[in-house]
Amino acid sequence: MTLRVADVAAVSDVGRVRRANEDSYYVRSPLFVVADGMGGAQAGEVASKIASAAFAAGLDESLAPEPRMATVVRAANREIHNQSNSDPSKHGMGTTLTAALLGDDELTIAHVGDSRAYRLRDGELTQLTRDHSVVGEMVRRGAITEAEAEQHPQRSILTRALGPEADVEVDTLSHTVKAGDIYLLSSDGLTGMVDDAQIAEIAGSRSSMREVADELVRRANQAGGVDNITVVAFKIAAAGAAAVAGDGQTRDHPVAETGSETIADAPAVIAGEATAEKAPGGFGPQTAAAGGNGHVPPDERSARVASRRRAQTKRSRKWLGIGFASVVLLLAIGGAFVASLNIYFLGVDEHGLVTMYRGLPYEGPVSIKLYTKDYVSTKPASRLNELQRAAILDHTLRTRGDAEDLITQVERGQTSSGGP
Ligand code: MN
Repeated sequence: MTLRVADVAAVSDVGRVRRANEDSYYVRSPLFVVADGMGGAQAGEVASKIASAAFAAGLDESLAPEPRMATVVRAANREIHNQSNSDPSKHGMGTTLTAALLGDDELTIAHVGDSRAYRLRDGELTQLTRDHSVVGEMVRRGAITEAEAEQHPQRSILTRALGPEADVEVDTLSHTVKAGDIYLLSSDGLTGMVDDAQIAEIAGSRSSMREVADELVRRANQAGGVDNITVVAFKIAAAGAAAVAGDGQTRDHPVAETGSETIADAPAVIAGEATAEKAPGGFGPQTAAAGGNGHVPPDERSARVASRRRAQTKRSRKWLGIGFASVVLLLAIGGAFVASLNIYFLGVDEHGLVTMYRGLPYEGPVSIKLYTKDYVSTKPASRLNELQRAAILDHTLRTRGDAEDLITQVERGQTSSGGP
């Protein structure tokens, strides 16, 4: 059976914290793209637009769908990488990319980064893409749960993005679609704020994709809106079904984006915003990211943490009053004490370099750190292999000697599995 896109909508929103929208989308049914740029100043916006525009230039119809999509993604990666290397103002820029192409009865997805593609079928929401992030890998290894991942201090670190390297490994997948399926592409500004259960409920209970997209963005903003939020939603119907009036089952609401070309325009970017929203006491080494390589948007995730922390602080003040100040004082004393101990752990600093910290990998409220920076290596976290990442980014507590050995191995490019 030949299927078609019966309804589509796309929304991109700056959110409530950031001043610029570095997300982009491109919709020209049956092709749908979401990209989440990173890199500070205007670079992130440039990167995500290059990725979206690469699809606007058309696909090589002589290729099978998966290589057809992957070819475009790799070309976009080269373009971003080259611009990043030749223009200092764009140095380190990068972007995620999640793109979907509907064939006769098959949806093909190409994916890099932590934006996501979901399918809602018969009321059940399935995440079709896997996040290329440190916490995504931890979840797949069974080291942490999904719920823990959402709160994990290193959830900001991507393990794959367009831009940092001359070539990129692209995930592609295809699967058979069914009439009635709803597909969502979204940036992490949605999925970091709204959980899957809510997404499923909203996607399955609205009469048009416009309502679905608008409501998802509204919920993300309601939950804090600490990042740019982009949602592309489309619904599949049997070809010809739209012509049947009163088809009761699938209500068709073709909208402007169908068959038209849209590249989202983000509002102007204000230089310096990368640090503007960083809260006092942002998560330090844990949210710090491979920013130097453009793998991670450290500013936006820090802003997310900051926003949550502000809300928490407000509540704390309300309930604890002076008691709160006492807790802060105790934590400050405790922090100074702990940082003086001979406990070390490895993490990633604000420039994305593997770093040795002294103390404990935790922070109290109001900027109290339980660690100090001891040694910053020359190794960007984005260049770690999977073994090294597992050994280093878990924040395992170590003796000074162990920590030094490990960071030396990593700098020399050896594996960190404890070999000679
Ligand atoms: Mn984002």
